[in-house]
Amino acid sequence: MPKLKIIGCSSGMPDANSANSSYLVAFKNKYYLLDCGEGTSSAMIRLGINYKKIDNVFITHGHPDHIMGLPVFIQMNHIARRITPLNIYLPSELVEPIENILNATYLIREKLSFEWHLHPIKPNPTFRDNNLAINAFPNKHLLSNAEAIESLRLPNKMQSYCFTVATSRAKMLYSGDLHSADDLEGLLDNCDLLLVEGMHIDLNDLLELVADVGVRKLVITHLPSDNIKQRRMIMSIARKLGINGIYFAGESREFTY
Ligand SMILES: [Zn+2]
Repeated sequence: MPKLKIIGCSSGMPDANSANSSYLVAFKNKYYLLDCGEGTSSAMIRLGINYKKIDNVFITHGHPDHIMGLPVFIQMNHIARRITPLNIYLPSELVEPIENILNATYLIREKLSFEWHLHPIKPNPTFRDNNLAINAFPNKHLLSNAEAIESLRLPNKMQSYCFTVATSRAKMLYSGDLHSADDLEGLLDNCDLLLVEGMHIDLNDLLELVADVGVRKLVITHLPSDNIKQRRMIMSIARKLGINGIYFAGESREFTY
């Protein structure tokens, strides 16, 4: 059974109890990393994760709490004498800027103990090996930047994705960050595990959608760890809607699907 392990789950506001977004999928002795926010590497050390086994990293969008752990993750692998290549799949608008950041911070491919490669995300499939397939579906999370981008004539394309991680028997959806629960419509069929952020969307809308389509396991992430009142409110709505199998993400928590 594939296993999801929470490495980091905090949102843009750093949290004392967790790194920023970072999730590990483990299946048949292979590791896949979804997002790599700040604090990912130290959390991996704390959790005793054999990070050299991660060959493929998938980035949902360019907000710092989802991507800014990458340089330290690469540095850590170099110092630990990693040999195998590291493949990073990310929105196409980020390929050049991240290449520039890695070169500017002297993580120059030719100088390291291993090669890193940046791949622009393509749909259908975004990635496939003999273990599982990962597919990217665009969402509207970054749309509120349109006016600023236009007035400053920035090159940003507001690319942001949800990912499905599917084996031959089970499917997980990781929402990344969203604009609204509507971004999930059409993606939840046969979903064994939904890992969804609860920071930018109306939680009532989310729970109603989940009650409607029937997800087997719901893991809500990206919430402040100290807001107990909010968690009680979510549980109470879930109970009213008859949703079972609801959990909150927290560092080191594991879920099979
Ligand atoms: Zn975001």
